[in-house]
Amino acid sequence: MSSQDLPGQPHIAYRGNELFSEEMRLSDLAKQHGTPLFVYSKSAMLSALAAYQRGFAGRKVQICYALKANPALGVIQVFAQAGCGFDIVSGGDMDRVLAAGGQADKIIFSGVGKTRAEMRRALAAGVGCFNVESEAELEVLSDVALSMGLRAPVSIRVNPNVDPQTHPYISTGLKSSKFGVAHERVVPTYQRAAKLAGVRVVGIDCHIGSQITQEEPYLDAIDRMLDLVEAIEAAGIPIQHIDFGGGLGINYNGDTPPSADDLWKKLLARLDTRGFGKRQLMIEPGRSLVGNAGVCVTEVLYLKPGEQKNFCVIDAAMNDLPRPALYQAFHQIVPLSPRPDTPATWDVVGPICESGDWIGHERALAVQPGDLLAVLSAGAYCMSMASNYNSRGRAAEILVDGKQSHVIRQRESIADQMRGETLPPCGRTSGSSA
Ligand SMILES: *Cc1c(COP(=O)(O)O)cnc(C)c1O
Repeated sequence: MSSQDLPGQPHIAYRGNELFSEEMRLSDLAKQHGTPLFVYSKSAMLSALAAYQRGFAGRKVQICYALKANPALGVIQVFAQAGCGFDIVSGGDMDRVLAAGGQADKIIFSGVGKTRAEMRRALAAGVGCFNVESEAELEVLSDVALSMGLRAPVSIRVNPNVDPQTHPYISTGLKSSKFGVAHERVVPTYQRAAKLAGVRVVGIDCHIGSQITQEEPYLDAIDRMLDLVEAIEAAGIPIQHIDFGGGLGINYNGDTPPSADDLWKKLLARLDTRGFGKRQLMIEPGRSLVGNAGVCVTEVLYLKPGEQKNFCVIDAAMNDLPRPALYQAFHQIVPLSPRPDTPATWDVVGPICESGDWIGHERALAVQPGDLLAVLSAGAYCMSMASNYNSRGRAAEILVDGKQSHVIRQRESIADQMRGETLPPCGRTSGSSA
């Protein structure tokens, strides 16, 4: 097997018969830290970021990493040090950015359900922009800011009603979606915002979906956004920045998304044609910056050949890698040290008591119990959606930087899991008498 067999992952490759992340042999990391184990390549993240930076060369742009893709402090720090801002969706996300050295004024606060408490804390911290998703939220934000003697910088998230042609659960820019303000309500919402004493209009934004592999949805969304900017400005409300959200897909299984630099060269040409090329721009990529930087290393526990199906039971499960159960998503699964034997066909499944706990269906693998496998493209929306289902502690995370590796999150212990739980005093049940 050679590195060409691994989709879109120049930093994860075989050397001889051993899979490496940068200069680190993955089996060594597994021996040292146990499995399941997430391993992220720093240079893969920085090279994904560099593609965006090339695409935007010479433009005014703020790249805001959408940290819900992977909110590990060690990952946030990589992007903070590279000058990124951050797209957050909760107060907890904000605390993570600040703890990892990110700047508050480069934070965009997105999400349909911000609480008053989150708004207050974000205003106190001085976040750069609130991406507001409804008229009701706008009124509340204005109230909260006024009560603090502040004006909240706002952008209205518009719903451009374009189909990103991705999985329905990660399509966000359709009319039927809970996200954003409907196209026809956008100008009235800006007019309302302009009259509110507690907000200050600074921008406009959209985010049409995730794992988008075609450029047309972006081109459509940009045209619709620019139509709106023209209409809003014609109503006398200046728009300083235009934020196009995230959503660019990655190669999981032969997917062919446009590269970030090619896509943005095209999109910027469209902006130039329409006279918006000099505007302050923002983007919020998540998956495309981290997805293919990460793998999840897991051990084969048991082989269960059967009449109808062969099961390969591994020690990673849907609580570690929720995307197959959630979206029927495909992750490539490869051995750390390929065997020369003829492969058999296996359903690769985890130990959780759910039939939905599968990681890959009908995979050709030559495996034995004790072998180590890598689930590829596991840098985004895996650990960030991990849970403790079946009382499983969450996996450890390692950041690889050349010949060095750092534990950026320890494996979660059972004590970690039970912290905060208490047993009510066990005495007599009420009603019984002595
Ligand atoms: C999830 C999200 C992103 C990032 O999406 P990716 O598909 O990971 O690039 C960006 N902006 C908003 C508002 C989001 O909700």
